Amino acid sequence: MSTPIPATLIPGDGIGPEIVDAALAVFDALGSPFEWDRQVAGLAGVQAHGDPLPKAALDSIRRTRLALKGPLETPSGGGYRSSNVRLREEFQLYANVRPARTIIPGGRFDNIDLLVVRENLEGLYIGHEAYIPIDGDPHAVAMSTGVNTRQGSRRVLEHAFELAIATGRKKVTIVHKANIMKALTGIFLETGQQLWEQKYKGRIELDTVIIDACAMKLVLNPWQFDVLVTTNLFGDILSDLVAGLVGGLGMAPGANIGTDAAIFEAVHGSAPDIAGKGLANPTALLLAGAMMLDHCKLPDLAARLRRAIDETLNIDKVRTGDLGGNAGTAAYTQALVQRI
Ligand code: NAD
Repeated sequence: MSTPIPATLIPGDGIGPEIVDAALAVFDALGSPFEWDRQVAGLAGVQAHGDPLPKAALDSIRRTRLALKGPLETPSGGGYRSSNVRLREEFQLYANVRPARTIIPGGRFDNIDLLVVRENLEGLYIGHEAYIPIDGDPHAVAMSTGVNTRQGSRRVLEHAFELAIATGRKKVTIVHKANIMKALTGIFLETGQQLWEQKYKGRIELDTVIIDACAMKLVLNPWQFDVLVTTNLFGDILSDLVAGLVGGLGMAPGANIGTDAAIFEAVHGSAPDIAGKGLANPTALLLAGAMMLDHCKLPDLAARLRRAIDETLNIDKVRTGDLGGNAGTAAYTQALVQRI
């Protein structure tokens, strides 16, 4: 047997522990190579250590540089800062990678296989915001400053080109709004075009599209795209749009790739409305697990896991309630384990 790969496991809040347990059962059946170091964060972190991102969890990721994470609850408005945003900053997780692939055919869009790569640290997400009071109205004017750097743009674009080539894709499309935000998104477009000329011309096709046209084209004819790479805010919106093309957030995995670590997660949240009821769908987290196996250069295990998911959903037709089925988490997990 090969050496186990140390990896941090954060079950998270709400349905997190339920879907993580399901994922572990499936990973065990697969003979997964990971040696898990279980840590708490989010609300569970506050309850256990008074901190939504306890030092022990950070130390663990610093050591393993690899994590599988359940959803973490963030209170809206007040409360504490999002642990997900803190993790991005702490480990410089500059690329958010979201694949969208049709798994259950027969929906509105069949045969979709798209990849959205979103810049994860810069742009309008840096939170440089202010109000200007005028005539007694403290919120008369609101301002937000976006920052994109050549270096930050380059590393995420490079990741998108490299990933596209490594996974046999044909085309990378840079999504921008450089006609209006000439500096903020122009730098991203310009850096991408230069990088392609220098390193990737002849190895992969390059296309560019303005964000608004891209949104329309994705709905009219999503098959014209392959890999989309874009700045933070546009990527946030487009990655949910493409998840919607293939059955919603319950099936959407995501990877956060950084210089210091890689963190894999389901895109959905902690689903407090169904937590503890045994109804949660663990598919998105398992697909994130498949991305983690690919990241660790174990494509055969990743392919086996994806095949088991496809067969359970489409041949056995065992599906959880969010997909119109009547299986609970346990029955679905058992069916998956049989298919491994
Ligand atoms: P949500 O994704 O948790 O839930 C939206 C709807 O989808 C709910 O009806 C829920 O029951 C359903 N759903 C989500 N995942 C499901 C699954 N695996 N199986 C079956 N049904 C599923 O979104 P929300 O309610 O807006 O957010 C709840 C909490 O999650 C908030 O505190 C939010 O901050 C947090 N959140 C965390 C992350 C993360 O850690 N990556 C992402 C999004 C939201």
